[in-house]
Amino acid sequence: MSSPSIFWFRRDLRLADNPALLAAIDDGDGVIPLFILDEGVASRAGANRNANMVNSLKSLNKSLGGNLHVISGDVVPTLKSVMKFYGATSIHCSKEYAPYGVKAESDCAETGIELQILGSGYAVAPGRVRKDDGTAYKVYTPFYRGWLAHGWRAPVSAPKNPTWISPQGEMKSLSKIPDWKSEIELGATGEEPALEKFKKFLKSGAEGYSENRNTPGIEGTSKLSPHLRWGEIHPRTLLAKLGDSKGHEVFRKEIAWREFYADVLHHNPHTSREYYDAKYTKMRYDKPDAKFKAWCEGKTGYPFVDAAMRQLLREGWMHNRTRMVVASFLVKDLHLEWQHGERFFAHHLVDFDVASNAHGWQWTAGCGTDASPYYRVFNPVEQGKKFDTEGRYIKKYVAELSHLDADSIHEPWESLDGYSHGYPERIVDHAKERLESLARLEEIKASKPLPPERK
Ligand SMILES: Cc1cc2nc3c(=O)[nH]c(=O)nc-3n(C[C@H](O)[C@H](O)[C@H](O)COP(=O)(O)OP(=O)(O)OC[C@H]3O[C@@H](n4cnc5c(N)ncnc54)[C@H](O)[C@@H]3O)c2cc1C
Repeated sequence: MSSPSIFWFRRDLRLADNPALLAAIDDGDGVIPLFILDEGVASRAGANRNANMVNSLKSLNKSLGGNLHVISGDVVPTLKSVMKFYGATSIHCSKEYAPYGVKAESDCAETGIELQILGSGYAVAPGRVRKDDGTAYKVYTPFYRGWLAHGWRAPVSAPKNPTWISPQGEMKSLSKIPDWKSEIELGATGEEPALEKFKKFLKSGAEGYSENRNTPGIEGTSKLSPHLRWGEIHPRTLLAKLGDSKGHEVFRKEIAWREFYADVLHHNPHTSREYYDAKYTKMRYDKPDAKFKAWCEGKTGYPFVDAAMRQLLREGWMHNRTRMVVASFLVKDLHLEWQHGERFFAHHLVDFDVASNAHGWQWTAGCGTDASPYYRVFNPVEQGKKFDTEGRYIKKYVAELSHLDADSIHEPWESLDGYSHGYPERIVDHAKERLESLARLEEIKASKPLPPERK
């Protein structure tokens, strides 16, 4: 009799469009669906991400008929003990590219565990798209062209009538999905809600995406990031449904940003924590103090920044436009190193992704892959006026300003009753700090010229 195979779910918590899962089914007499819960990682992640993960595991377990094995422990001993217990001869999984996943794979190889690896969480696996001379791309736009030219496979279907092996004996007593909760209300998790959300976005959001994606006060984006984070939906599934309209094209480009950053991190693994452009390590930075605390709490006195930080605290998610604005504020108005903000985001975001977060931060800080010839400094007031013209976003999250109209909400200091409901005063003067930031840039003689004031 042939033996069962193990399918090790990692960041691919779905059944459809999962080629590695199909390979596991083909390979064994029944499949043991396994998720290894590393409590060390969980202890470093924030409550939102942990709660989102366990909700996602619960959804997956449901689609597996309650047969998911969720075992806490280190990867190598857990895989060994599950293999031994069931007499399994193969372990299948998809490849990971973030440092934690890479290390887990090399630990397996070093201890004699042979993984059957197929596919990844990307349409084109990091490392595949290269310049003609074989080197990696450092700039997004040429990467995007190379990525399009490379192309990707069509999605594969969900398995038909697979045999899942339920947790038995000792494994049954070990298997447990923790009941982790967070204080905020989280969105629906799982493959079905992810597909539903995408269907709805295709029907009513995708066509207008290129115009609406920068307006945080409306539902102008897909909000698929938490689902992509846990692989409840694969980017291939999204790409397969996109056509040639402007909205679809811009959406495809955003998916490509995710793939670009994964590629950059793959070639530069140290950049999850360290500067991509090393000369910025020499810049003069301040130490986090009461101003950092005000930034974290959404009390900087800059309405657009505060609305965004409060959105993060309330929802565990933030709009892309405002992620850039608050990141710029932290680095260029408060003169803090980007890693302070990156860690705060990592703690609170339900969609936290090592590559997109570290490189979203580094791009905004100026030490990343931004190809602009200028050193960008976002103006937090002008950004608000431009992208939240009616002040809807600010009103939603900053109750102390909800009495102000669209003309005055971005600059409460200009209104007689701007501070009448307890809104804090500005912790810094943006015009002054912008000059300070540019002066510090001069000190490290960065190659980028100083820009005119940006909006
Ligand atoms: C400072 C900073 C930190 C960020 N941290 C993260 C993070 O931890 N996790 C994360 O998934 N994204 C991160 N992003 C990227 C982006 O803000 C989010 O992916 C996006 O806001 C998610 O919302 P959505 O799903 O509605 O996006 P949509 O606009 O609907 O885009 C669809 C998908 O494309 C991808 N995408 C879109 N924009 C970007 C981008 N700029 N960079 C990379 N991928 C993108 C995401 O997977 C997203 O779900 C960060 C951006 C910045 C500036």
